[in-house]
Amino acid sequence: MDWSTRGNGCSANFSLRYIMQYSNYYTVMADGTIKQINPFTDNEVWSVPGRAGKPSSNGPSPAPRLLLPGEETSFCAFCPDHLFETPPEKSRLFKNPDGSFQRVDHLPPTEMEHNRIDHASMTDHAPWLFRRVPNLFEIVTVEYWKKNYNYFLAPQNLAWKEMYLADDAGLRHVHEILRYKLRSSGVSEERMETIPESELLAMSDAFFGGGHELIIAAPHFTAGATDVSELFSSGDMTPEEHYHYIRFTIEAMKDIFASNRYIRYISVFQNWLAPAGASVEHLHKQLVGIDDWGASIRHQVDMLRQDPNIFNELGVNLAGMQNLIFAENEHAIAYAGIGHRHPTIEIFSKSYSSRPYEHSDEEVRSISDLIHACHAASGSHISSNEEWYYTPVDAVYQMPWHVLIKWRINTSAGFEGGTSIYINPVAPLELRDRVVTNLHRLRSEGKLSHSIRIAQECEIRPNPLRYYLQ
Ligand SMILES: [Zn+2]
Repeated sequence: MDWSTRGNGCSANFSLRYIMQYSNYYTVMADGTIKQINPFTDNEVWSVPGRAGKPSSNGPSPAPRLLLPGEETSFCAFCPDHLFETPPEKSRLFKNPDGSFQRVDHLPPTEMEHNRIDHASMTDHAPWLFRRVPNLFEIVTVEYWKKNYNYFLAPQNLAWKEMYLADDAGLRHVHEILRYKLRSSGVSEERMETIPESELLAMSDAFFGGGHELIIAAPHFTAGATDVSELFSSGDMTPEEHYHYIRFTIEAMKDIFASNRYIRYISVFQNWLAPAGASVEHLHKQLVGIDDWGASIRHQVDMLRQDPNIFNELGVNLAGMQNLIFAENEHAIAYAGIGHRHPTIEIFSKSYSSRPYEHSDEEVRSISDLIHACHAASGSHISSNEEWYYTPVDAVYQMPWHVLIKWRINTSAGFEGGTSIYINPVAPLELRDRVVTNLHRLRSEGKLSHSIRIAQECEIRPNPLRYYLQ
């Protein structure tokens, strides 16, 4: 397949300074070994010829067991039949019979099961598409915020807590979830009986005002699945459904910021399948509010202070010069990343805005279309991490909103430990080719947004990201 993007004439516009540096980041040796340095992390990564055949193929695991009747909606605690096995629900997203979408917040517990709409969407497994719930086992706990910042629930969350606990079904739900959490933490039944009610209800602040949340998709399995390997993934959604997945997640970000003024950054990510760290193989995203940016963001902000255009120069422009850009649309662009420990797709928003919740609907739809296409092209059997990066709420240097999709198909071993040189089994050009082949197939099957330009259709103009102009 000839889909080269060479000869687009854009190189003359690149800064000479960076063109001279580009070879420092990406070197092809005579034997085909590709030595890479990630410009933003300084990771040293080699892709060695012959190791590309090692990753597992994009096919089902051997001999998965058949699904039992009813299991498609009750397989795990995130499934639609187990609404009360997660802490109290904050929001859910419905699709109305007329095709519009509707978010409902703080549904009373007694209406949780009854609030059904005849016209199911996404699959026939549930009347809703997504739920937003607290993570029962927080990374950053509500106690952290209380003890370190004297945090207390915002008025709107306190009112919701009082409403929920005033309902018998709500109070019973909270008690049961707390007992499960305590039991999982090794607290004995005898000890639980001695915990005063006031203490239990204070613990439940984690559910009504905590900063670690989940966005759970309704289906566990694909429509018509017959065995347990046929999991529903991001790429199984329609582009429209995926847009609402991203939109719903962004709305959760806004609410977390509004609920806790001490949060400086919200880490947003999706761990898909166990090798990527997913403890539950039911599609979900996570949001974790933190009082820090983390070393990675701090380092990138430092680079932005030196050169506000760095994400064009050493991100998209560098990828363009190495012919790694494989998809683009009006407001976003995607390419195979350089210098990652795992094969990594990078998707950047081109918007002037640099935070997800400052993007217009049209801009969100563009980046969502590319994220969706890249997940679909990866395939549901590839384990992956989806990670969001954007300008922290309190940063004055603009960083473009970008999303990395890392294929977790290889693990570091002794060589990496001893040398700090990481072996990525799939070279960026090979990753690009695999994705492009699948994008063409998916498009022919009518599964991608029409907005997407693939491979040689991409414009690949220099400096396509506009964040630095804000
Ligand atoms: Zn499930």
